Amino acid sequence: MDRDIIKRALAGLCDKSGDLIAFDERLVNHSTIRTGGRAFAWYEPVSPEELRRTLDFLRGAGARTLVLGNGSNVLMPDGYLDAVVVNLSGDYFTHKGFEGSAVTVGAGEKLSALISECCARGLSGLEGLVGIPGTVGGALVTNAGYRSAISDRLSRVKVIDARGNIRCAERKELVFGYRTSSFSTDQIIIEALFELREMPLSDLRERIKDLFMEKLRSQPLDRKTLGCIFKNPAKSGYKSAELIDMAGMKGTRHGGAVISQKHANFIVNSGNATSGDVKALIREIQDRVRTDFSVDLVPEIEIIE
Ligand SMILES: Cc1cc2nc3c(=O)[nH]c(=O)nc-3n(C[C@H](O)[C@H](O)[C@H](O)COP(=O)(O)OP(=O)(O)OC[C@H]3O[C@@H](n4cnc5c(N)ncnc54)[C@H](O)[C@@H]3O)c2cc1C
Repeated sequence: MDRDIIKRALAGLCDKSGDLIAFDERLVNHSTIRTGGRAFAWYEPVSPEELRRTLDFLRGAGARTLVLGNGSNVLMPDGYLDAVVVNLSGDYFTHKGFEGSAVTVGAGEKLSALISECCARGLSGLEGLVGIPGTVGGALVTNAGYRSAISDRLSRVKVIDARGNIRCAERKELVFGYRTSSFSTDQIIIEALFELREMPLSDLRERIKDLFMEKLRSQPLDRKTLGCIFKNPAKSGYKSAELIDMAGMKGTRHGGAVISQKHANFIVNSGNATSGDVKALIREIQDRVRTDFSVDLVPEIEIIE
């Protein structure tokens, strides 16, 4: 279907439902490394029902959709992204409901907000994710973790599947691995239920503070990055950061993209980097580590084309 027709129809649908829609959206504002071009549309639904209706329309129109959380694990294209980017930052998708030691949370909620609220209630189980600048949905898809993984305390998720049905999946139906999950790209997570356990408030606060300080000491949390670029290789006996450091690559630059001096598995946007610079630096690291150590580094980040 013609882009102008889709644009008019989408604007009309969103006008009626109260959903937010913006066209020709700048992607640098939606990625923690602050690179990327523009997208056809940026869409924030107000409820799962409205989201379902819009997805039905977009499927029928043959338009590409892409769900984005906080953009902390994705490298956007520098050119035009011909897709409707779905973002769940509206009230419905960021709600939190507590019942005993369980919490139901919208997939668009930031991990930091969830962890602080759990901490205030003396509920432990998610604090191992402290310092990860993602949303619940993005963290589940990537099975994010630091001292523990998000899947460790997961009990159930609610998703919209490829056919537009809203359904629940129990933890045992899902498969999680090291930075992987069995969610397919045509599923949208809308809500998750976590089973936590009670812990004395002072112990929990202390634990969160220690974990955060540990991250702050070892990672450039104050810079524009995507966190770790590569997964740790399974068999080499070394972490990716160690291999990159041993290859003497800290500080190596391509355009505005630089390998962090603080943590060699982080690429920093020093101000004017493009996604192309980041991709070129990724290739350079892979080539050098393959030549020096015969190890193939696999990206942990997702490169959107
Ligand atoms: C400074 C820094 C530190 C980091 N530290 C860590 C760390 O310690 N451990 C770690 O694991 N990661 C870390 N990361 C990487 C990143 O923060 C995590 O992978 C995070 O969980 C991604 O969440 P997000 O909301 O930003 O997802 P996005 O980057 O927006 O998306 C990631 C993927 O999830 C999909 N997605 C997002 N929301 C949904 C949804 N609702 N339904 C379906 N699919 C969805 C997207 O389409 C995409 O495929 C770090 C990143 C930074 C910048």
